[in-house]
Parts: sequence; structure tokens; C-alpha cells
Amino acid sequence: MAQIQFCERTEKDVASNYRGELIGSVIATFVLRALTELAGIKSTHTYEIFCDNMGVVRHGNNVYRPLSESQAQADLLTLLRRNILVSKLKVTYLHVYGHLDDNTSFSKLSLPQQLNVMADKLARDHLLEQVALRTTWGSTYPHEPVRIWLSQKKITSSFRQAIYTDWGAQVAMRLFARRRIVHRYWFPRIAWEFVSRAMARYPQMFRVWVTKQVSGFNGLNRQLSRIQSDVVNECPCCGHKDESTSHLTRCTNPSRRKVFQQSVDKLLDWLEDTGCDVRIVECFEAYFLQYGEAAMVEIASDHPHLSRWAMEVDTLGWDNLVEGRIGYELLDIQARLLTEKGSSRHIKSWATELIQHLLGLSHRQWIYQNACTHIRVLEGKSESEHDSIMEQVGKLLLTDPEMLLPQHRRLLDIDFEQLGSGTTANRQYWLAELESAISAFQHINARVITNGSING
Ligand SMILES: [Zn+2]
Repeated sequence: MAQIQFCERTEKDVASNYRGELIGSVIATFVLRALTELAGIKSTHTYEIFCDNMGVVRHGNNVYRPLSESQAQADLLTLLRRNILVSKLKVTYLHVYGHLDDNTSFSKLSLPQQLNVMADKLARDHLLEQVALRTTWGSTYPHEPVRIWLSQKKITSSFRQAIYTDWGAQVAMRLFARRRIVHRYWFPRIAWEFVSRAMARYPQMFRVWVTKQVSGFNGLNRQLSRIQSDVVNECPCCGHKDESTSHLTRCTNPSRRKVFQQSVDKLLDWLEDTGCDVRIVECFEAYFLQYGEAAMVEIASDHPHLSRWAMEVDTLGWDNLVEGRIGYELLDIQARLLTEKGSSRHIKSWATELIQHLLGLSHRQWIYQNACTHIRVLEGKSESEHDSIMEQVGKLLLTDPEMLLPQHRRLLDIDFEQLGSGTTANRQYWLAELESAISAFQHINARVITNGSING
């Protein structure tokens, strides 16, 4: 029995079990192709290829069906089809259940089932060996009809998406460098694919807010004062001159800091619950308490295994962190921990949730800032108007939020009608945000009670 082993080093966004199965199929069909081309085998016999992946079986049996523009692993599927067609042999793909030896003795399995078990073991052993030896191959194969490379990466699926993503990354890299948010060197070290995944979970208006925040064009007073002559460029909560986007998470207003700490507490609880290194949780706690004034390298100086991560945090800085732009060092550490603990949680979902928590730190401050701005409006009103507005606030605290909040969209700057018709995940996110809004309203109540006693 002959064996062929191959180990491809695949880009993170392309690697999958499906690609692994397809590589096996491409190798198998190469053997058939070589036999017919070199040995001149001509046969009317139907050759059976067994595979435990239904996607591969389907494609192997439909070699003339056009592939869609967005077809995943299109490079290997094209090669698989060509191998079968060029061989001119009659090939049938058959499905075999994988890992059957988990519950059944190997000797009781059929030959295809036994071969499948053996192939899986060979693949696993070879993968580990080649990773240890660092002798992996790139994602190119002989006889590919076409290979297209973009920024040193081979396109394996949708050309349109690849060009769109690459162009977007180039534009973003230039913008972030020009605005001194992220240096070009560090740009590729940010886990952008998880930022995309996190953004995809948000309602449209939240994504708009993130874009405004990142680009420095949200509705804070630095920008508003440029277009409205009656707006003064200062923070409505603490009076700090020049209310820029970076002030959002640095505001010294005690109530805002309280809200920030509540957000941090939630983040730290989540990190602990999801099995994060307890030293990292402690370092984060100390770091967040310093509001961007401390260096993570110093905070984590007692933990040598965290030095690379700490350097990465400091290089990217506070603003990147509180807007969900994290580096891969933390993800590498967490991925190892999840594997060691045999956790069912995948690093992809962990990273996405972490980014959502981090973005929440900034967004809750944005909500609170809106409330502070609203208080200023209240202070300029007559007593009866003031009472009427406070009655409204009282109702808000007592009434079902879904019935009332659409009337107060400007407070949260979110299109609640759109949110109401969106997915459950969107609504859950909105409910989490409501906690902050209620905290803000409690702050308004406290201010009005104080003012009332002075007036009285
Ligand atoms: Zn402030």
C-alpha cells in the first residue's frame, strides 16, 4: 500500500478542516492522473474514492457544475475537477463516516472505514511531525490552471472579496498611520478579522458610531464646535478643554468613572469566567484603573511570560485597546490556555466577545456623555418645563424601555426601530447598553434633586 503525505502552511483565514480534506482528495486524484498520463492506463472500471467530508464527496461527483464566485477553497476544487477530467477515468466519490474506531473495534470495520481511520492517523502524525520540523509547504500545487496572488497571499476563494478586503486594509493602514492611531509596522499585528466579526454582530447604527469614533468624527464638542457657533469645545461632564475622541475614556467626571469601572468589572468577570490567565486579569485591572497613564510593561514586570503581550499593549496604546483593536499576543496565550484546559470555547468567539467588551467601554462613555449634554439642556429650561422633562425621565425609569426609549433616540443615538426589527442578538446587546442609560438617568435624577433643594 502506497502512502503520500503532504503538509500545507495555510493562511489563518483560509485554513479549515474542509481544506485539509480537499488536500487529501487532490493528492488522491493526482495519483489517478499520473497513472493515466504516464502509464497510459485506459480503463472502463469505476474508481471509488472514499471521503468522510460530504462537501468533498458532492464536488467530486459534480465535476461539471459551475463554481460560484464566492466558493470557498475554489483553487483546490478546480484542481480536483481537472485531475478527474484529465485522467478520463470514471471516478465516483463515496461517503464514509469518520472516526468510527472511537466506538467500534478496528477489526470490525469495513475496508473503506479502516482506510479512513488509517488516513486520519497518518495525517495527524504527519502534521505534528512537519510542524515540529517546520518543513511545511505553501499553498501551491502542480498543474493549477491559474494562481492569483494579492499582497503575497494566494486567493483561494472570492476574487471580489479578496480585492475588497485588501484594498480596505491598505486604505485603513494609510489612514491609521496618518492619524497616528497605529503605525504601519504594527497594523498587521492587530487582529482585524475579529474586529470584523465583532462589528458584524452590531446593528448598523452602532457600526456607524464606531466608524465616527475611530476616525475622530463623532459628535463630541471638538467637532460640534466647528459647525455650531454656540457649542464650546469642552467636556460637558468635567469641563476639560478640547473634548476630543480620546477624552471619551479619559474623562475625570466621578460618575463617568464609576460607569467606566462598572464596564471594566464586567470585562474582568468575563475574562475570569472564560479561563483567561489570572495574571492577565490582574494586569488589566491595574491598567484600566490608570486610564491610559500607566505602562503595561511595568504593571506586568513580575510576570516574564507576559512580557511580549505587555509590550504589545503599550505599543498599541490605550485608545486602540478601548476601541477593541488588540494584538495577537493575547490571543496566542488564550488559545493555548483554551487547548490546555480542553475548553469547548473557540478562540475566534473568545476574541470576538473580548473586542465587544472593549468597545463597550468606549460606547458606554459615549452614552453617558450624551446624558451629560442633555443635563445642560435641562438646566436652561423653566421650572415647569424642567418638571415636565423630569416626569418624562421618571416614566423612563418605570416604564417598559421598549415602549419608551424610541422617543429618546438622541440620548443613545441608535435607531431603535431598526433594532426592534433586527435579530435577538442585537436586542440583547441593546439591553446591555440600557443599563448604562439607566445609570445616566439616575445621575440626572440626583442632579435635579440637588438643584431642587437649592432652589427651594
Ligand atoms: Zn470630561
